[in-house]
Amino acid sequence: MPPFKLHTPSSLDEAFEIVKGLKAENLDYDWIAGGTDLLPNYKWHINTKPHVISLSKIKILNKISKNHIGAMARLYDLSQSSEIHPLIAKSASLVASVMIRRSATLGGNICLDTRCFWFNQSEEWRESIDYCHKCDCGTGADCRVIPNQNTLCVATYQADLAPVLMCLGSTIHMASPEGERSVPMYDFFKLDGITKNILLEDELVTHITLPNDISDWEGDYQKLTQRDSWDFPEAGVAVSWKKGVTGPSEIRVATTGIEPIPRFHAEESQRILDTWSGENSVEELAESIRKSVKPVLNTWFQPSYRRKMVKVLSRRASKGLLEM
Ligand SMILES: Cc1cc2nc3c(=O)[nH]c(=O)nc-3n(C[C@H](O)[C@H](O)[C@H](O)COP(=O)(O)OP(=O)(O)OC[C@H]3O[C@@H](n4cnc5c(N)ncnc54)[C@H](O)[C@@H]3O)c2cc1C
Ligand code: SF4
Repeated sequence: MPPFKLHTPSSLDEAFEIVKGLKAENLDYDWIAGGTDLLPNYKWHINTKPHVISLSKIKILNKISKNHIGAMARLYDLSQSSEIHPLIAKSASLVASVMIRRSATLGGNICLDTRCFWFNQSEEWRESIDYCHKCDCGTGADCRVIPNQNTLCVATYQADLAPVLMCLGSTIHMASPEGERSVPMYDFFKLDGITKNILLEDELVTHITLPNDISDWEGDYQKLTQRDSWDFPEAGVAVSWKKGVTGPSEIRVATTGIEPIPRFHAEESQRILDTWSGENSVEELAESIRKSVKPVLNTWFQPSYRRKMVKVLSRRASKGLLEM
């Protein structure tokens, strides 16, 4: 791994002072949380920086409660917590392995780098194919998945928590030396495998909040992986609903592991709610989600198979809708 200088501030103010100092000297840096994604990438010499600022000593980022989860909350703690919504606990429990979940954090999961089999490789491997423009090492290399356009990256977003957090109506909170801001989780992501999300330079995620009616929501998260024991989602579908008198009064669906962003399927869910008729509606919903996703060939399984599985996962995640 290339050498870097590690900074360990104990407050956000201290972190932003370090940032100011680095900027004044024109030095680049990365935030690091659990390091379970950043460090493997650094070991493969992927977009390494000379400075790394750890968030691990900033206590304010650790808080976990029913309506508030700090960016440094460990996925293992979320998976075990009886205080947080069971859907969040379930999706956290499906991330990687127990050892990784002990270090992995909520913030790192939401901000996970996008993945592509032309990119998540050793430097020697990438050099042998002349790189690609997500990490071109100055070669001006093209994208291997959609060539001859050289601007867009369609690397896949393969983190598990975002679709669930979208379905539970969460808000993401950010801070930078310039101040604080918040957006709904479904507005956080940006359709490009390189920029990934709306975080500005020097900005970080501090926490997420969940609405007061969180306990009224039920749902499920289903995930396709190559190996059950640990793997990134090749497709993931979260479905949530609120019970009404004769059926659901609200439905939300979100997907991950298929495109460069996790996607909130507001239109498809509303259409089904407006014409709710039980089993047929679930089938219609599953088909409409399948039709709307557009995987490309840059992860383990073929796009056509992942798309088919989106329908299967949507159906499975909607099972509870037929049990009310
Ligand atoms: C073998 C293996 C299997 C895995 N399987 C899965 C899986 O099944 N599902 C899954 O979702 N992930 C998986 N992962 C990826 C990863 O372990 C998790 O997504 C984890 O939650 C990342 O969190 P972290 O704290 O370790 O992030 P880090 O590695 O510390 O950071 C990840 C990225 O987020 C940025 N970042 C971190 N915190 C913040 C913040 N607060 N604000 C702004 N930017 C921030 C970092 O700069 C970095 O770019 C796997 C990893 C491995 C090695
Ligand atoms: S999608 Fe293209 S630019 Fe992005 S990582 Fe893959 S090959 Fe590189």
